[in-house]
Order: sequence, then structure tokens, then C-alpha cells
Amino acid sequence: MNKYTKYLGEIVASMRDGSFALPQRHCASCARRTRFLISGLESRSIRCLSCKSTAISLATVAQIQQLPLDPAASAVYELSYHGAVFRYLKSNFANFQFSEYFGPPAGGVYVDGVRNEDVQKLSFAPASFELVSSTEVFEHVPDYMAGFAEVCRVLQPGGWFVFTVPFFDDARTEAICRLSAQGGLEWLREEEYHDSQVTGVGTVPVFWHHSKQQILSDLRQVGFKQAELLQTNAFSDRVAQQVVVARR
Ligand SMILES: [Zn+2]
Repeated sequence: MNKYTKYLGEIVASMRDGSFALPQRHCASCARRTRFLISGLESRSIRCLSCKSTAISLATVAQIQQLPLDPAASAVYELSYHGAVFRYLKSNFANFQFSEYFGPPAGGVYVDGVRNEDVQKLSFAPASFELVSSTEVFEHVPDYMAGFAEVCRVLQPGGWFVFTVPFFDDARTEAICRLSAQGGLEWLREEEYHDSQVTGVGTVPVFWHHSKQQILSDLRQVGFKQAELLQTNAFSDRVAQQVVVARR
């Protein structure tokens, strides 16, 4: 199934369940008033028709805009090279770095002009950045605690980590999949894959369902001094997107 078939299916379903709408709103990514397609009751079902940004990315941008960062001086790092957060940071911060994970060997090797980084072992020096951001990445990281610890390491004291994952109300984070000793996938729950702008629809295995409560204590455990889950309702009264804002 390609992504357009999938979107069309979602639009038809949303017309049936009454969630379909085409409101005009300000888009933080386009930086102008534009039309949004609402085709469901999740943030990923809300999309700017001009720049294709979802409400997940735009909620992250909205939280970043609240931070006391200096566009000319603050060193900023985003863990992908596409999407609204990437575009916003690239056009607003002079000192901006980004990467993607293309598989081993990572460690700062460039693949078609994009830096390849495994967040579980970043190749950046300690205290390199004032802001690190990611959108829907850490549910796919086998050792996500190693990833959080690495983000903490590369942040300056007082630096910010702003990110989203799909958040669950359960008390504990649940392991969905893990890597076997041979590096293959071992499913502990029903198989679940997410779409990727790099590799396509349904290609990225989900390792974790992150608990809202546990994710904040996980961040404190690896060294973040503050961690909060902040809510943005900018796109629809019926859909709220939460964003983690943690401070080293
Ligand atoms: Zn837009």
C-alpha cells in the first residue's frame, strides 16, 4: 500500500465518523495561515495542506518556540532530515545540525549528504547542543534508555530535549519487540510497524509503548533535572498532542 492509498482510506473513514474537516489555521511550519486536513481524531490525522506537516510536528515546533533560544548562536540538533521540525529549525537557527539513522555503520558517517547517527551511541562531543529534538523516534530505539542518556550527554547543562513518541496511559512502558542475539526482531506483543518518510509505509518496527508517567522518570534517571509532558490543542478542540520538554 502506498501512502496516498492510505491517506485516501483515512479520509473516507473520517467522512463516515464525522471527524473530517478542512479548517483554516496558522501553520508554524509554513509561518502563514493555510488550510488543514483533519481526517481522524489523532494528531497524525491532522495535516497542513501546504507543507504536509502533521499536528505532531507542529506541536513540537510550538513548544520549541517557547524556549529562550538564540537563533544566531544556539547550537541545535534534530534527529531527522525531513518534516516540520527539521524545516523550522533549519530556517530559524544558524547553528543547526541534523542526522538520520540508516543502519550500521553510523557514528557520523555521511550517507548521500546526511549524517548517519545511532542515537544509542552518538558521535558528538559532550555538551555540544543547547537543543535536541525528535519526532516519533524513541518508540523505535531498541535501547531507548541508552538513547536518552546520549541526548543528555550531548546537551549543555541547562539545554533542552523536546520530543514526541506515541504516549500511552499505562503505568509502565511496555516492550513490544526486542533484538535477538543475532540482531533479528523478537516480537513480545502483536507485530506493529510505523511509516517512514525514508523507507515507506509500515516499514519501521515498534519496540516500545511508552508510558506517560514512566517516560518522565526515565529521563530523570539518565540525568535530566526536569521533565514535563506539555499539551498543545492548537489544531482541533477534539485532538490534543503532548510533547515532552526535558532540561539537562
Ligand atoms: Zn504548513
